[in-house]
Amino acid sequence: MTDPHRVLVLNSGSSSVKYQLLDMRDRSRLATGLVERIGEATSRLVHTPAAGQVRERTGRIADHEQALKAAARELAADGLGLDSPELAAIGHRVVHGGLRFSEPTVITDEVLTEIERLVPVAPLHNPANITGIRTAQALRPDLPQVAVFDTAFHTTIPEHAARYAIDVATADAHRIRRYGFHGTSHAYVSRRTAELLDRPVADVNVIVLHLGNGASASAVAAGRCVETSMGLTPLEGLVMGTRSGDIDPAVTFHLKRVAGMSADEIDVLLNKKSGLVGLCGDNDMREIRRRVDEGDERAALAFAIYVHRLKKYIGAYSAVLGRVDAVAFTAGIGENSAPVREAAIAGLEGFGLAVDPVRNAARSGEPRLISPEGAGVAVAVVPTDEELEIAGQTFALVHN
Ligand code: AMP
Repeated sequence: MTDPHRVLVLNSGSSSVKYQLLDMRDRSRLATGLVERIGEATSRLVHTPAAGQVRERTGRIADHEQALKAAARELAADGLGLDSPELAAIGHRVVHGGLRFSEPTVITDEVLTEIERLVPVAPLHNPANITGIRTAQALRPDLPQVAVFDTAFHTTIPEHAARYAIDVATADAHRIRRYGFHGTSHAYVSRRTAELLDRPVADVNVIVLHLGNGASASAVAAGRCVETSMGLTPLEGLVMGTRSGDIDPAVTFHLKRVAGMSADEIDVLLNKKSGLVGLCGDNDMREIRRRVDEGDERAALAFAIYVHRLKKYIGAYSAVLGRVDAVAFTAGIGENSAPVREAAIAGLEGFGLAVDPVRNAARSGEPRLISPEGAGVAVAVVPTDEELEIAGQTFALVHN
């Protein structure tokens, strides 16, 4: 029999579970799936085997346990059951690892307790991740379960970049500091960018722009993250689909005092009703561009605000790094929106940055350069793959 070589990656959200089963011998995907609207009458499971037809099931799935069992049934129907001896481990995306977890970690009771202790700084995410872990443990108690933290890649950020300039005792008492998120994506993309340039990671400084519905920038020097735009929570930094990104903190107590809003209402306003949605009613960049092309002024202003913030971060991180070798665009918008890439780089010739229009317009799922031949600084599109990164880190930890 061959050694166990499969890894199941689980990304458990509050009402959804995404899963992927990978074969680590060739890093291929055996199946992917999504269970959404868990707990509602309209739950839906979509299962996509590598070979075969997409299968969709609808009808109430009561909780995460039922969701994982439903996913396991689909995998078993493809001959990929979770009881298989070929399964080496289950890798869990865990959003917040605080300062304690800078590496992927085999989950023990003590580790789970620590992830629970971090719930106050990640109230939306860590509870769902914990539920996913517990459910998977019940299903395969014998198997190593590994936590891969969204914050881990950012634990190398120096203290002077991670600390907010607020009272130290208050900050320490409540663990308030910059943690950063999307770490598996920033790690993967910065490494892939060095590969694209055909240079060792240790020789390359990269600004990574992860532009999905959530968005963050990071400055990576010789493979180590030295600055990132998300902070204590994923609210800080770039303009996002529904989140404001950077804002004067006084806006929050102004809203409380002047508009009589509660902390929870302000939380919802800034996390769910701001960003592109708040500015123009849409958060899908395709729709926003369509409206811009039709002359819609609100959409045009939203686009301009989005791009302006990106430019500020590219400039700031150029200064943080001192020397930039590449700017890499990734995630839904970064990989697919040529207009965003063009507008974000336009006018940055003084930084050695430029985009070649033909290269920028070409569509491909592969990492590629979009800067002109012989440009001083590379501009690249590097598709992210967080599940592959989680699977790779999980397998490396359990396979020896
Ligand atoms: P993600 O969170 O990485 O899945 O990114 C989701 C976002 O990517 C969507 O909200 C869209 O704004 C954006 N997106 C996806 N496909 C395209 C596309 N072809 N052109 C522009 N934006 C896109």
